[in-house]
Amino acid sequence: MEIKRNILLNPGPATTTDTVKMAQVVPDICPREKEFANMMKGLREDLVRVVHGDERYTSVLFTGSGTINIDICLNSLLPAGKKILVVNNGAYSTRAVEICQYYGMPHIDLKSSVYDVPDLKDVERTLDENPDVALVYTTHHETGTGVLNPIREIGRMAHEHDAIFVCDTTSSLGMIPLDVVKDNVDFCMASAQKGLMAMTGLSFVIGREDIIRESKDYPKRSYYCNLYLQYDYFEKTGQMHFTPPVQTIYSTIQALKEYWAEGETEKFARHRRVFEAIHKGLAELGFRDVIRREIQSGLVVSVKYPDDENWDFDKVHDYCYDHGFTIYPGKISTTDTFRLCSLGAIDVKDIEAFFVVLKEALEKYNIKVVYND
Ligand SMILES: *Cc1c(COP(=O)(O)O)cnc(C)c1O
Repeated sequence: MEIKRNILLNPGPATTTDTVKMAQVVPDICPREKEFANMMKGLREDLVRVVHGDERYTSVLFTGSGTINIDICLNSLLPAGKKILVVNNGAYSTRAVEICQYYGMPHIDLKSSVYDVPDLKDVERTLDENPDVALVYTTHHETGTGVLNPIREIGRMAHEHDAIFVCDTTSSLGMIPLDVVKDNVDFCMASAQKGLMAMTGLSFVIGREDIIRESKDYPKRSYYCNLYLQYDYFEKTGQMHFTPPVQTIYSTIQALKEYWAEGETEKFARHRRVFEAIHKGLAELGFRDVIRREIQSGLVVSVKYPDDENWDFDKVHDYCYDHGFTIYPGKISTTDTFRLCSLGAIDVKDIEAFFVVLKEALEKYNIKVVYND
């Protein structure tokens, strides 16, 4: 079977291999069968290995997109009478703040520039001044800008202040180094379609089993999205509490086989060279990006719109899309940007092919890549 290969330069879902796509085509199975429970057991163990968790860590699977993890961790892991500190320098940490607002959970929104990493002195001072903070939260890689946050230091500060550290690693896990023990991460999370290069619909939280057990007695703020409830059901039955995304689980298991076969170091190096190729192609055409290179994750480039009056993102997007390449709008409210990402089963030659197409689009619409300042 021939499947058209599209190059997705959006920040996930990512381009997948045909073997991962085809892994979904399996005989019908009731997911309550032992065979399926055994598959999920192996998958849960593998996920802990991906982030180098030791025997203190476990993983819990959920049906849903990545945001479900943020919701679950925040609503499930806050003890009564305590507060959440969100270290917020971008759209995804802002999402965590909104979740706190929706549940009416006491929180501090420590907001800082989306163009930069947070100031650790501000984090430290906020923790000193608020001894009732029990959960520190931030985003590892802010996908909206491409900024990589200093999680190891933030995690250390959380622990020095007797708080747990929850980190949204949705757009970094499986693509850049993450070691939950060394990085002081108590809980991290992702969904199958990003770094693992599988399909949408499966999300997972990886974290400290003792803390999950402790959270049994924390206030219950959601039924479907409670971490302890799902964990406990897995432990007792080997199954998800409610219907799992069966086909996505098959494809994720295949994706993990391919992850180990490619090798962590090799995979990280491939994403990095794709990122470098994106920068090279952009520089050759005269495009500028908006984040200092030293703090970029190596996975997302936020590109400034050129000032030429003929520039039209939608037209350029549609031309590229028609030729098999998907580019993505930006997520910075104060600057007009688009994004090119190095996620997925792609390599340098795909990026070179993309820039041929992008150049054609610019020529077709008579767009000059110029900036007025
Ligand atoms: C993709 C992503 C999510 C999840 O987004 P969904 O649309 O729910 O899949 C969460 N956090 C970060 C940092 C992400 O990049």
